[in-house]
Amino acid sequence: MASTDPASQRVDIAVIGAGPQALTLVTHLLQKRKGWHQRIRLLDPSGSWMTHWQRQFRAQEIPYLRSPAVHHPDPDPYGLRRLAESWSQPFVPPYDRPTTALFEEFCRDLVRRWRLDSLVIPAQVQQVRSLQPGFALDLSNGETLAARRVVLARGTGIPALPPWSLGLDHPPGRLCHSCEVDLPSLQLAGETIVIVGGGLTSGHLALGAVKRGARVILMTRRPAREQLFDTDPGWLGPKYLKGFEQESCWERRWQFIQAARDGGSFTPEVLTQLRSLVRQGSLVLQESCQIQRAAWQNHRWQIRCSDGSSLTADRLWLATGYRVDVTDEKILQPVMERHPLKAVGGLPILDSHLRWPGCELFVMGGLAALQVGPVARNLSGARMAAQRIVPALIKPSLARTVEELKTWRKTVSQGNNSE
Ligand SMILES: Cc1cc2nc3c(=O)[nH]c(=O)nc-3n(C[C@H](O)[C@H](O)[C@H](O)COP(=O)(O)OP(=O)(O)OC[C@H]3O[C@@H](n4cnc5c(N)ncnc54)[C@H](O)[C@@H]3O)c2cc1C
Repeated sequence: MASTDPASQRVDIAVIGAGPQALTLVTHLLQKRKGWHQRIRLLDPSGSWMTHWQRQFRAQEIPYLRSPAVHHPDPDPYGLRRLAESWSQPFVPPYDRPTTALFEEFCRDLVRRWRLDSLVIPAQVQQVRSLQPGFALDLSNGETLAARRVVLARGTGIPALPPWSLGLDHPPGRLCHSCEVDLPSLQLAGETIVIVGGGLTSGHLALGAVKRGARVILMTRRPAREQLFDTDPGWLGPKYLKGFEQESCWERRWQFIQAARDGGSFTPEVLTQLRSLVRQGSLVLQESCQIQRAAWQNHRWQIRCSDGSSLTADRLWLATGYRVDVTDEKILQPVMERHPLKAVGGLPILDSHLRWPGCELFVMGGLAALQVGPVARNLSGARMAAQRIVPALIKPSLARTVEELKTWRKTVSQGNNSE
């Protein structure tokens, strides 16, 4: 019987991941249910909060956030501004974008204030299995965690790699996706680096590489675009969301999302810096161009481009974003088999509480975009997701079935549950 599955520990709510999405969910949940600390556990290989976020910001030397100060994981909308009062230069104009240091300190403070440190278990979830009721989470430390409800908040997806970059032979470190580049650890003086991508990440990497003495060729498949935010702010409220939510065709919703995100763009200040490097001769902005073929020969990349040009380079960096596709979530394979769900363009069709059909598994981040909209993966999307998930977690009437709830209560009252 599935419900007698041996488990090292039982919890009510298991959250997979301890990044900003999870932090937003947990603070919003505890705001409504102050005594629920014992019910919640988070799983993250780092064993602590915001590790992946911090690593990315350090690796790419990002000085401040792209999103304005109103977007953060605290249920108190003024929380970040209050902390900023004692800082000398907390924000970057326009729209008060928080510095990386302020945002990190704010999240640390949030973890302290809400007493969240001890909730994170240092383990990777290797598989989520459906029980009746609840789930068993197989962890990298060999243990199994039984959970009545699960929230998936495990990040941006997997690197999207262009077909020409697959299966190439090269020495280590010569071909990297942006998530593998760690600027502070690199010595690049005298090297030529081709960076592919027209989003802010490619801009940050280009600035960091030139700062280290490299010559950079920044290749964008369209003309470089300048945009303050990655998505039109109309997607944060009724201006666009009203029509989006009224759209009953999931394919149309998917098209709205693609059109709204519409590839990458640079912020005005990063594009200004890039253009200034072009004038100084340390950067080439190769717009409306794509790589067709690359081969590592004679200790360098030999590259053939769509505009007929050829390039040689010491390194190739792919700032080509992430693929968000529910079928990539291998840890959910057993859940998918037991509770098949429909997806459009890789995005699962969830209910309005961001719940997987047929079970108490909730999904945050980019995978929830068909319900939350194009900002689902961002900090603003995390708040929108928390506002949908929390009511379903705290109100038994919104649980999938009352029968399931009763069975769970019976099961946990017999075991060492923490309810
Ligand atoms: C460089 C960069 C800058 C960004 N800047 C902004 C910005 O300024 N404003 C904004 O709104 N958005 C921004 N974003 C978008 C988004 O807010 C971030 O990507 C954010 O980190 C997403 O939060 P998350 O919690 O989904 O993911 P993450 O921060 O990636 O956290 C997910 C966690 O899940 C863990 N995990 C993964 N798999 C498992 C598993 N199997 N078991 C256990 N744990 C697991 C990971 O280790 C990770 O710690 C930025 C994104 C990037 C890449």
